[in-house]
Amino acid sequence: MKCDPNLYRGAPPSFAVKPRLLRNLLLPLLIILLTIGLGYAGYRISEHFGIRTLNESGERQLELHARTVESELSKYTYLPSLLELESSVSQLLADPTAQNRVTVNQYLEGLNRRSRSRAIYVLDTTGRVVATSNWRDTDSYLGEDLSFRAYFQDAVRGQPGRFYGIGSTTGEPGYYLAHGLEEQGKIIGVAVIKVRLEALEERWQRARLEAYVSDENGIIILSSDPSRRLKSVRPLTAEIKERLARSLQYYWWPLIELQPLASEQLGEGVEKVTYAANPGVETDNKEVSYLAQTRRLNDTPWDITLLTPLQDLRREAANQGMLVAVAFALLAFLLIAWNERRKVIATRLAAREALQAANSQLERKITERTAHLRASNERLKDQIRERRQAEDTLRLAQDELVQAGKLAAVGQMSTSIAHELNQPLAALRTLSGNTVRFLERGDLKVAADNLNTINNLVDRMGRITANLRSFARRGEDHGHASLSKAIEAVLQLLASQLETSGAHLQRDLSDAELKIDQTRLEQILVNLISNALDAMQGQSTPPQLWLEGEHYEGKYRLRVRDNGPGINPENRKHLFEPFFTTKPGEQGLGLGLTLSASLAAAAGGSLSVEFPQAGGVAFVLLLPLVQPAKAEPI
Ligand code: ADP
Repeated sequence: MKCDPNLYRGAPPSFAVKPRLLRNLLLPLLIILLTIGLGYAGYRISEHFGIRTLNESGERQLELHARTVESELSKYTYLPSLLELESSVSQLLADPTAQNRVTVNQYLEGLNRRSRSRAIYVLDTTGRVVATSNWRDTDSYLGEDLSFRAYFQDAVRGQPGRFYGIGSTTGEPGYYLAHGLEEQGKIIGVAVIKVRLEALEERWQRARLEAYVSDENGIIILSSDPSRRLKSVRPLTAEIKERLARSLQYYWWPLIELQPLASEQLGEGVEKVTYAANPGVETDNKEVSYLAQTRRLNDTPWDITLLTPLQDLRREAANQGMLVAVAFALLAFLLIAWNERRKVIATRLAAREALQAANSQLERKITERTAHLRASNERLKDQIRERRQAEDTLRLAQDELVQAGKLAAVGQMSTSIAHELNQPLAALRTLSGNTVRFLERGDLKVAADNLNTINNLVDRMGRITANLRSFARRGEDHGHASLSKAIEAVLQLLASQLETSGAHLQRDLSDAELKIDQTRLEQILVNLISNALDAMQGQSTPPQLWLEGEHYEGKYRLRVRDNGPGINPENRKHLFEPFFTTKPGEQGLGLGLTLSASLAAAAGGSLSVEFPQAGGVAFVLLLPLVQPAKAEPI
């Protein structure tokens, strides 16, 4: 199949290479980028949905724990106001005698024990502690001036005093609830209860919950993680710092800001925060991310924040992202493999189509070629038929020529034949006349001798004419000839010529049965011998003629050699051409050698010429044997 060269002519080679190179370089890069991109997207989406789920479950948990904290706080809300009902308290405030103080102290001590609070105490309107549940302790609040405390200042104004702070006496943190004790619409003192909320923290720790409660100043007052306790969740202004220092709410605590490494607001009260890992906690990561959900605690200015670690979620999201990336990479690989396979199949299909096209083209060509061959076969058959006809015509013409040649030879020989016959005829005339006279004389013996001689002469004449007749007769391609008989007949035919030339004949041959018509063999020999005699005519050296025969490679080779003048090189080329003759006038027709050669060839033999060193010419006649027989010398 031929490719269309125009398809590739448009672009120079450098441009033709580039797109493939670019594709080979860009495709893997693109796949890598897409894998990373999709992996990251998978990670983000998984994280997003994970956070949403966490948020939902976190909200429920936050609600649960907020309620717990609220109920824990509300347990003590009404306790300070109960002291209003206690007459000993109002008596003490009205009349702070030692007796009254002991009574109230004991009452408070008992109340404190039952309520499991940290301390319960009563202040007068100046802020001095007049009775306390811990009156027996060495670090008792008794007599202490707590007028600087915000809860006192609120309560003395008739507002509920809520306060988380560190005790100025014990240095112990606690939740202070204060209530202004009224009598006849007038504040006569303040009742305070201090509660420890560590139980909540312990409960969170047991539940492995991360949570904290921050107060109105943004200071973490309760935390599952002790390291976060008393740190501020938002920056404190200088004014707030000063106020806090004055009220000694957190004693002299430094109030460091809990600064997240990163934070992201996800919604109302929902934030994603990252803190540096707690040095005390053993973890692989240097930072820890949380989902921080914050809610206001009812009846307080406090917020509870639930921290849900995002570590597991992140790990899960990373796995999901990885899964997406791997799935995409696999898909890309499969697509590439599928594409490559598609290309291979397309190439195979194209190759198959090309093969089919080539096949059908080949078949078409074969059909065309077969048709041509058939046509040329027909033409060849016609030609063969024509050649056969021509051969037949030629053979006919050849036969005619042979016949003509023979007749020509007969014509040539007629003079010598006439001479040959004239002699015995003259002798016959003389002998017959003499015989008549001898008979008349009665000389019977001489007459009988004459008649015998006449008989012999008639025989000789008969033989001459018989030879002539047989020579002139048409022959066949495939006959049998006796070499000895042929030589005898020819020598008789040419006897007078031999005698005239005075040539010396030497025979060195054996008899053989040859595969050639008898008359044709004789005709060849007549031609060769008479040519030799003609050539040697009138030469000074005594003419010699050799007839040499031998078996040669399953055939018989007869050499007719003379010591004549030979043939000059120019004439040698034309020897076997028809009508080539050097003989003058009507002596030569130029058909002898041509006919002889064609007769030999027709019999399956050949006629060739040699030029011996010694001079003269030797014609070599090679003829097939009837059967290779041991021949007798002739
Ligand atoms: P023709 O005898 O009629 O000339 P041939 O074909 O027999 O025709 O011979 C052709 C010629 O070959 C002769 O004319 C003669 O010149 C030459 N030739 C043939 N035989 C001999 C020979 N033995 N020696 C010399 N020349 C020869």
